Amino acid sequence: MVTNLSLRRHIWLLFIIPLLFSCKENPETFAIHSPIYPSGTEAVSFTLRKIDGNVSEVKLFEFVANVNSQGDLSATTPETEIQSWSSPSFPLTFTRSSGYGSNKLVTYRFQVKGNNKTYNHRISFATRPYPVPNQAAPVYVVGNQDKVLNLVFIPDTSMNSRMTLFYNSVRSQIDSTFHQEDWVRRFRSSYNFYINPVTAIARDFDSGLSHVLPSNSSELSFAQGKVILHFHDIRDQAGGGYFSAEYYVRGTMLHESGHSLYRLADEYDSNSASHWEEPEFPNNWDNQSDAEAAAPGYNKTTADVRKMGTQDWYRICNNQCPMRSSGTPINNYDEPCKTRILHTLLKRASN
Ligand SMILES: [Zn+2]
Repeated sequence: MVTNLSLRRHIWLLFIIPLLFSCKENPETFAIHSPIYPSGTEAVSFTLRKIDGNVSEVKLFEFVANVNSQGDLSATTPETEIQSWSSPSFPLTFTRSSGYGSNKLVTYRFQVKGNNKTYNHRISFATRPYPVPNQAAPVYVVGNQDKVLNLVFIPDTSMNSRMTLFYNSVRSQIDSTFHQEDWVRRFRSSYNFYINPVTAIARDFDSGLSHVLPSNSSELSFAQGKVILHFHDIRDQAGGGYFSAEYYVRGTMLHESGHSLYRLADEYDSNSASHWEEPEFPNNWDNQSDAEAAAPGYNKTTADVRKMGTQDWYRICNNQCPMRSSGTPINNYDEPCKTRILHTLLKRASN
């Protein structure tokens, strides 16, 4: 159990360390493969894009294992270098033209050298169909399931005839939302992504109906986030551990996953908004003086404290924070939300 005091110390260190070492030259890169959940015969492309910094060399490695219906791995190949780049220009892509075959779990690793440091992106994905009945297929797995946050993408029935669009949107959500938002992307090794083999039905909030959960919902308890991606525009809602989102929205993805992954509360003014105050590192306060007292800890002043709606609920985050604004574009989380995200990731990592 991490005490509040030691947690505060850890958080302080995590804020200070990037300040000391975040010279521009340190590269920041992101890896993705496409298709995100390939069939055994599809060619697979591996892409590394760069946000910032100097990169002098990149190498790409892979190894492949068989997966049986119990999920056990066998006949794992030795890790092999399949491509290298010196003085690379970004984004760089390598396409493996022959498919990996059926019942495979593929692991690839981009080794990146730059600014006298070397680091790796190591990612595993299954080929489609995943042979383990009723289990979500790993499509972008980077860490121990018990130590990181796990998000399952579930196709709404409106995606039944549009599964290529669904797969492409899962890839896009990983690359353009979770690996894009300025804070979440720093923890790229703290999020695993899966695709569910069966559909669900996302219901419009205004219909008063709850989402229809997938028939394998009892197998998804490992996941902190479960999102039903749908084609038609509806008013999204969360409930029963599930949330819904249009396949293309990024701000809504951050907002709704903010509720389920980190228990962040709503920051917008509405009688239907969900406000509550978490005992540790809240992003809502139920009285003004507590919010004003918390403000300096987030490099804010009492002038940054805003009342939300007509009830006694207060926020410190700015107007652009995803817990206040959702929709298609992506905005960055503000300080109270960032601190709660970090607190959540530390608690998972110390499991
Ligand atoms: Zn909300």
